[in-house]
Amino acid sequence: MLGFITGTYFYKLHYLNKTIASNTSVANQTSIVTNTQADNALDAGDVTFISANASGIKISPDCKLNFKTLYMVCGHTIETSEKVSSELVNLDEDTFKVRYPDWQVQNFSSGEIDLYKEVDDYCRQHYMLMDSDGYIGIYDLDKDDKVVGLNRMTDIPTEYLTETDLLNLQQGIKVCTDANLNRTLEDFQ
Ligand SMILES: [Zn+2]
Repeated sequence: MLGFITGTYFYKLHYLNKTIASNTSVANQTSIVTNTQADNALDAGDVTFISANASGIKISPDCKLNFKTLYMVCGHTIETSEKVSSELVNLDEDTFKVRYPDWQVQNFSSGEIDLYKEVDDYCRQHYMLMDSDGYIGIYDLDKDDKVVGLNRMTDIPTEYLTETDLLNLQQGIKVCTDANLNRTLEDFQ
């Protein structure tokens, strides 16, 4: 008898908990939906604001273009900058975007434009430094770190380098990105 009562009690408790749980989840869902709607409303407002704003900004003659490319295969990000060419001067954001369809415009101001893209490739700035006839040679590597050929010779002689540097150069020193290459070469000079 006691067992039956306890059983019923627990069943009721379980049922009650379930009811509470389902009510809570409904309540949560409702509030999530409400939030999403609020976000959408906010987004729509932002978009209107941005496009209204963008139409007023024009590229100045001394504007700087910053290109940032993420190479998916090796994970390196390569950044370059250049001054705008004269035919881009006075363009607004929408017209500019038509000229650079592959790029994501992350920032557009009259003095500076930040562009970004992701490429399914390696950055082609993978090098191997090796001793070649007493000088440091820069060799190109493919995406699998295989030497594909001489990029260029430097005028840095290897005869004054430390024992460790020489040993490393005999095995080949792998350097990625031009920025790191320049830093490494400066260390050897
Ligand atoms: Zn790379």
